[in-house]
Formats: sequence, structure tokens, C-alpha cells
Amino acid sequence: MKNRIFHEFLKNYVVVFLMSLLAAIFVFVFLSFAGSIISKNLMKNVYSADSIMKDDYRDIETGSVIENGGGVQVVNSKYQVVYSEGIDAIGKRHLTAEEFTDFLVQSKGKGVPYHYDIKYSSKGDFWLIVTFPTSIRLDFSLVYNNEAESKDMKLVAIVFAVGIVLYLLLLAAFAVIFSRVTSVRITKPLQKLCEGTQRLREGDYSVRVELGLTNEFAQLQDTFNDMAVRIEEETALRKQSEEERKRMLLDISHDLKNPLSSVAGYAELCLKRYEADNETIRPYLEIIHKNSQRASHLLTQLFEMSQLESPFFSLKLCKTDICEYLRQVCGELLPSLEQAGIVYNFEIPEYEVYSMIDEVQMNRVFHNLAENAVRYNPEGTILSVSLTEKDGCAYVEIKDNGIGIPSAVARDIFKPFVRVDDSRNSGTGGTGLGLSIAKRIVEAHGGKLVLNTDTGLGCTFFIVIPIIQDSFSC
Ligand code: ADP
Repeated sequence: MKNRIFHEFLKNYVVVFLMSLLAAIFVFVFLSFAGSIISKNLMKNVYSADSIMKDDYRDIETGSVIENGGGVQVVNSKYQVVYSEGIDAIGKRHLTAEEFTDFLVQSKGKGVPYHYDIKYSSKGDFWLIVTFPTSIRLDFSLVYNNEAESKDMKLVAIVFAVGIVLYLLLLAAFAVIFSRVTSVRITKPLQKLCEGTQRLREGDYSVRVELGLTNEFAQLQDTFNDMAVRIEEETALRKQSEEERKRMLLDISHDLKNPLSSVAGYAELCLKRYEADNETIRPYLEIIHKNSQRASHLLTQLFEMSQLESPFFSLKLCKTDICEYLRQVCGELLPSLEQAGIVYNFEIPEYEVYSMIDEVQMNRVFHNLAENAVRYNPEGTILSVSLTEKDGCAYVEIKDNGIGIPSAVARDIFKPFVRVDDSRNSGTGGTGLGLSIAKRIVEAHGGKLVLNTDTGLGCTFFIVIPIIQDSFSC
């Protein structure tokens, strides 16, 4: 960005330079054109010595010169001023030869505020001097002569060319320096503002920008800082209300858990006691029992979820051989798989692969995934569990060839309360929280839980957890 602004400035300066050069050429042409028109009408040219010259100076018509603010002097061959009227350029009646020569030389000198037109009359043997005060004059002209020595010409041309090249180089250097200086004055504050915005984007809302300027950048800085203050306040507010919401959810689910399990327990007790003798109450008791159990399950899952989100939640990690651990979990799952008529296939390596695991929490993950495979799929579904190692991670694949999850839902399946379709799931007793709880647990282990929908057949979940070295101990 810095360089782009610098180049932009450089380009602008070059354009400005070329434009000013064009303007200068135009003004120069205009002045020379206007100069030639003006000079024709200037008094000194209208009433020149030549135009009023006579053989006898007494016949000279001086009226117009005097009327137009000029002066006329006649100097004879003895350097005596024999006639003088109007502006007196000589100021003496009698001159020496040197004084007259000096006068002649000085009259052509630069900076003299008079124009002297001096003409010698050979017939009358006198000098006629017509003087006009200079109105305004700029002495600027280029003089050259074709007859000059070609060597001289060449030398002068070289000096001219070198002068022009030096001038252009100097100008280019100034343009580069000036554009760099001016671009820095823009890029520096821009850079600071960019850094601030970047930190803001990264979530550092405490960032403030101080430019120490009073121009438009200062306005931008104030707006930026105001914006950062607002975002910081709003984020803090949102965080607070989010924490309050989680706290409330945790409290409610905790407080409702006990009374609900007591309702479920008593309903079960009633069902057992009045089994034979009260056929009218029985169906109602069954409904109470079933629904209170469902509500209790939902509350348990809500409570687990709130616990996972709580700032006080922490895992009890321990170095574990995942292969051994998986064999144990699969063993625990066997009865329910066999009961549901699920065909299983476990491919767990014989060697040891270590990872830091909270076994209680990780059990929830495996049980939830296996229970889902059982709950949502028909008898005869094949469930396979395998473990592979890649890039320092253990990949536990839990795969079934059941009904699968449509890819449109798969994207959101780990979000709380997302289920494939309520009619399909009715009667399963699911809450839509199992997978989101499982994902949070795996992520708390520094791992990932992903659903691979590419297979197009059944569900393939991957639990990816980092492996640790064998020498590491907890
Ligand atoms: P639930 O308590 O409803 O099981 P989950 O978060 O565990 O909640 O699962 C969300 C939904 O994903 C389920 O309702 C079910 O529709 C679908 N699902 C999960 N696992 C499987 C699976 N192995 N086969 C088919 N559908 C599944």
C-alpha cells in the first residue's frame, strides 16, 4: 500500500511538472506575441529619433515627444547641448568627450529606467537624443548568430544540454523526495489505522489509535476509537448476558432434575404396586412415567451441556492407551448392540497409542455415537469401530451402513436441538443434544469430531484426538 501511494504521488508530481512546463511555454509565447504588439504602440517607438530627425535640428518637431512625457536633447560635435526640452537625460550644458561616451554606454545599460533613442545626423553633424521614461520592461531574449564559429556553437549547445539534463535530474530527485515525504505522511497514519482495525478484527477490543494529528486523519482516528469503545462495551454486555443465560440454564436444569426424577420414580413405584388391581389408573401412570423419563433425560442432557459451557468446567485428563480404552468401551457396548441386532466389527490395533483423556467424558462420546447407530438404524446394520494414526493424531472411525444423515442437515447436525426430521425420530426419545455434547467434549480434549457425508451410505464419524509420546506421564 505504501509503495502504491508513493507511486501515485510521483505520477501526480510528474503530471504537475509537465503541466507547469506547458503553461510556462504558453505564457512565454503569449508574452512574446503581446510584446511585439505592445512595442509597436509604445511612445518610444512611435516617436523615435529617426522619425523626427531633420537635417537642421532647429526644424525638428519636438511637440509630440514633450506632450507624451518625453524629452529631446541635441548635442553638437563639440559635445555641447545646443537644444534641450522635456526630460533632461544629460543634465549638463557642456560635456567632455569621455562624459559623452560614458553617457552613450550607460544609456544602453540594463536597469536604467529611461529609454534613450540616440541618432547621429551626418549632415547636421549632431546627435539627437529622444528620451522616454520606461513604463515597465523585462529584459529577456535569446541572441544567436549563424556566422559564429561552429566549435563555439557546439560548446554552448553542450553546456545548454548539460544544464537541461541537470535541471531535469534535480527536478526528478525533488519529485521523488517530495512524493516520498508526502506519501509517508499519509501511509503512516493509514498503517496505524490498519493495524488497529486488524487487532479489532482479531477480537482485541481494547485497541485505540493515537495519531497525534489534527487533520482529517484525526477525525478518522476519533471515529475509530469511538467505534472500538462501543464494540468493547457491547461485547462485554453480550458476554455478560450470555454467561447469565448459561448460568440460568444450569441452575434451572439442576433444580428441575431432582423433582422430575422423583415424579418418574414415584410413577414407576405406583405402576409396580397397582399393577394388578387398578386397570383405570394404569394407562395414566404409564404416560406419566414415560413422559417424566423423557423430560428427565432432556434435563440431564441440558445440565451436561450447561456444565460443559460453564467457565468452571475442566477435564480430568489422564494419559491413556486409546487402543486399550477403545477395547474396553467396545466391550461395554456389546450387549446393547447384540440386543438390537447390530452387526459389529472392531479393528483396534494391538500396539499402544497414548493420549490425554478424561475417560468419564469420553465415554459419553462413544456411548452417544454407538447409541445413535443403534437407535436410528434397523436390525442388521453393520457398525464398525477402527483406529488409525496420522500426523500426530489418532483417528477413531465409528461407521454404520444405516439410513445416514442427509447432507443438507449434516452441516448443522452438531448444533443443539438439530435432528434429521421429527417424524423419523418420534418415539426414539432423542433430544437433539447428544452430538453437540459429544463435539464439545472432543473439542475440550483439543480434538475434533467430524461427520463424513461423502460416503453416501450410513454415517461415518471421526473422533480426532492428539497423540502424546509414550514417555509423557500425567
Ligand atoms: P438425539 O438425542 O436426537 O439422538 P443427537 O445430537 O445425538 O441427538 O443426534 C441428532 C440427530 O442426528 C438424531 O436425531 C438423528 O436424526 C441423527 N443421527 C445421529 N446419529 C445417527 C446415525 N448413526 N444414523 C442416522 N441418524 C443419526
